Amino acid sequence: MQDIHSYDFSGKRALVRVDFNVPLDKETLQITDNTRIRAAAPTIKHILDNGGSVVLMSHLGRPKDGNEARFSLKNIVEHTSNVLGVDVKFGGDCIGKEALEMSAALKPGEVMMLENVRYYKHETAGTESFAEQLSKHGDVYVNDAFGTAHRAHASTTVVAKFFPNDKMFGFLIEGEIKSVDKVLNSDEKPLTAIVGGAKVSSKITIIERLLDTVDNLIVGGGMAYTFVKAMGGKVGNSLVEDSYIDTAKRIMADAETKGVNLYIPVDTVIADDFSNEANTDEVDIDKIPDGWMGLDVGTKTSEECARIIRDSRLILWNGPMGVFEMEKFQAGTVAVANAIVEATTKGAFSLIGGGDSVAAINKFNLADKVSYVSTGGGAMLEYLEGKELPGIKAIRD
Ligand code: AMP
Repeated sequence: MQDIHSYDFSGKRALVRVDFNVPLDKETLQITDNTRIRAAAPTIKHILDNGGSVVLMSHLGRPKDGNEARFSLKNIVEHTSNVLGVDVKFGGDCIGKEALEMSAALKPGEVMMLENVRYYKHETAGTESFAEQLSKHGDVYVNDAFGTAHRAHASTTVVAKFFPNDKMFGFLIEGEIKSVDKVLNSDEKPLTAIVGGAKVSSKITIIERLLDTVDNLIVGGGMAYTFVKAMGGKVGNSLVEDSYIDTAKRIMADAETKGVNLYIPVDTVIADDFSNEANTDEVDIDKIPDGWMGLDVGTKTSEECARIIRDSRLILWNGPMGVFEMEKFQAGTVAVANAIVEATTKGAFSLIGGGDSVAAINKFNLADKVSYVSTGGGAMLEYLEGKELPGIKAIRD
């Protein structure tokens, strides 16, 4: 494996796997959010500045019937040119004679974009011969698509084997890996993880892993009510996974054995309907009346969580404290976000990893006040769970 910082790109064609799976307006096919293109720009510019040329390779959407025009990367070529400030050529296909001739003729400083790799079912199947054809576009392979690193697809994983000595991570993947390593493998203390979201079932693996590492584990969101019920509390109509009651009991026992301060909410904002128009009240979390459901943590819980977070040196946040999409139930999530910002200002390192807490921190306009916001949804969750992501392994092996 090579290091993008020290690799000599001069005169080389870099085949760069990016995640340009950007949202497009259904009518005009214009890009509605170019975050992913901007995020990949540093890697691309670095290669160009170092005398290389770049062949961009990505998927877009989930084309079912081969070459569906609305999933063509042609739709985003002009926008990408504008973001990079470089004229981007379009390959017309991702494999085949014409595209290969175009990539072979690239001069230093030039960029071309291949057509959607998912136009071929060999991409998701990880077909080796297809990956080999893709590999012909470059002298060196750079993977900068963290969002698909958990998929063993041709362009994200299999292609790497055709570059035994010339493969590396781009800056984006490197940043994601470094930020997780910093949180989970550094000696600084205290380390606090806040795990919220809807269900215990989807977060159980990450919770079990975190119990071996963290000092404080705050449980929030819908999954808190399964824990409360496991302790004998009355949770009314709140979201509960009865089949996970024993799991919740085991987690509480494990936390005690491992000396982890497991914080379960003590109060909650309840509603008589899953709606922003519902009647609301605030009660002890183990005394929720029948017909009512807990949709956010209460004031005492928010204050205690904020106190724990403010005193932390390392913070990992995955999953909201309540139904933050509705204004009436966002206070707990806002309190956590603000406390993380405060801790970061005092020198803590904070990683916001995983879908909905990323959406929350963006909604509250606080993304630039924390240390790192992951772009990698499902990939980040799997990485935090301790799984070896195929796209990362393929570069390291
Ligand atoms: P996840 O994708 O597992 O992180 O779950 C995020 C979702 O959990 C968000 O859409 C929240 O609205 C939802 N959520 C958070 N708290 C609750 C709750 N108390 N009851 C039901 N859903 C919740």
